[in-house]
Amino acid sequence: MPSNEVNVVRSCGECGTEIETVSVKKDNMMLSSKAQVWCPKCQAERPEVLDVAGRLESIEKEQRSYPKAVPAQPFSDRSSRSAKD
Ligand SMILES: [Zn+2]
Repeated sequence: MPSNEVNVVRSCGECGTEIETVSVKKDNMMLSSKAQVWCPKCQAERPEVLDVAGRLESIEKEQRSYPKAVPAQPFSDRSSRSAKD
């Protein structure tokens, strides 16, 4: 994601269900919206709520793109193996 873009989460103003995440240019970012959005949970048009996606989430996405040094293993698998050693 270019550094001049931010992820904005669009969610239902009624129940808070996350509808989608869109990346927008910071210059165009508007968090006050009067638009309506279709909420699959409410099964109705609801006023949308926009919020900048969490910083943690973007860090997580960045880390996911790095090569993994250690393959993830279930904890139980790891502990049974070390017991045998
Ligand atoms: Zn809803």
